[in-house]
Amino acid sequence: MDVKVFQFNGCNKCFNETLLLKLDSNYKIQFIKEPQNWKGVKTEVAVITGYLLPDDKVHLEKIKVNSERVIAYGDCTTMGGVFALANQNGYEITPLKEFIDYQINVNGCLGEIEELKSVIDRKEPSKLKSLCEVCARKATCEYLDAVYRQIESDDKETCYNDLGFLCNGFIAKECKERCINYNTPCRGCKPMVERSGIRMLGMFGTLMGNIEIVTEHSEKGATDKLGDEEDDVTRSLPDILGNFFRFTLPTSGLPKGRIKSSGTTLENVFTGRLIEELPLISGLLGGSKSISLTLKIIESYEEANQIEISERTKKYREELLKLETDLEKALENEDSKQYKEITSEIRKIAGNMNLSNIFFGGFKSQINENDNFDDYKSHIFEVVEGTYKHGSVEYTIDPNGIVKEIKIKEG
Ligand code: SF4
Ligand code: SF4
Ligand code: SF4
Repeated sequence: MDVKVFQFNGCNKCFNETLLLKLDSNYKIQFIKEPQNWKGVKTEVAVITGYLLPDDKVHLEKIKVNSERVIAYGDCTTMGGVFALANQNGYEITPLKEFIDYQINVNGCLGEIEELKSVIDRKEPSKLKSLCEVCARKATCEYLDAVYRQIESDDKETCYNDLGFLCNGFIAKECKERCINYNTPCRGCKPMVERSGIRMLGMFGTLMGNIEIVTEHSEKGATDKLGDEEDDVTRSLPDILGNFFRFTLPTSGLPKGRIKSSGTTLENVFTGRLIEELPLISGLLGGSKSISLTLKIIESYEEANQIEISERTKKYREELLKLETDLEKALENEDSKQYKEITSEIRKIAGNMNLSNIFFGGFKSQINENDNFDDYKSHIFEVVEGTYKHGSVEYTIDPNGIVKEIKIKEG
């Protein structure tokens, strides 16, 4: 079968993952990094990756007229994905369905290659369970006493939401990357319902029924207005957009954002996010540089705030950086076997290709069963206002730990 994979904008992790299509298949596959220069030849299957902008429409139409089937692969293409958080700052990152009619979506950040392969082969899509059904934790649906931004808990049985840590598993499908297995609540990259952010917001809001929210009376009397003063709910959830709409903003039905753009697309995505969420976001959208970008963000904060790092942590981080360099070489050579081996090594340390296991101070779950996990276990850290710099990355956070400004230079 003739398959062409097109990379549009932003992170190239989904595009890179399609290298695996070369393994165990007889596809005649071509990778196209510059769709705007593509000549437009007839093809059986076109796979679209990366986020899309209005200027891409003309190139997408050319792909459409030349292809028997078009498949959107990864959240950036299907729903806008994490880059579309920049729409809050006036960008117009747009899902593929707004530009052309096409056949099928493979959601996920990272999109799952097994799912892509089965839709290319026209196999009946497997019926995925909800993430909560396959999660070892169980919901109690008790009201919360508090909402926490960082996890430190020995409870391995209770649903994260019931413990006060926001988990979007309620609205997600089962997935390969399984952040929940690495002490990381789900961020909802594989939604199973329409307008998943709104639904999750309602669900979590219900659990917060016992938590103080400041209300005031207007001239009509009673508590008919939210107070100007900050309350426990607003203090606990300072970034509603990033936490509930991380992958789905353009499909959420929310009105357009009005915040002034503050730099590149990438910089706009990071601005307004919470310090403890930065590793999870850079792990998603840094493309083939995800590991180094994530470590730069983490290490600048650790160094400035004297967060102690064990020798074991340093060693695992060095291994990851080396794997990142090896991965780039495998990608340059379009060597799918090497790619597979190296990504499986990355997964052993970082948990998954979203790097869910990497955090400030160390790792969230045990990497090797012979290790003493206490040697490299991360712990909750204090939010400290300030400007943090490491090589090509510099960012400023406010007293609530929200990124006010960030500069990311190439390299
Ligand atoms: S940000 Fe996520 S969905 Fe978008 S290309 Fe990267 S891995 Fe794929
Ligand atoms: S919401 Fe999250 S922690 Fe709770 S059961 Fe679902 S996946 Fe597990
Ligand atoms: S656990 Fe992680 S990979 Fe799975 S759906 Fe949630 S965010 Fe996506």
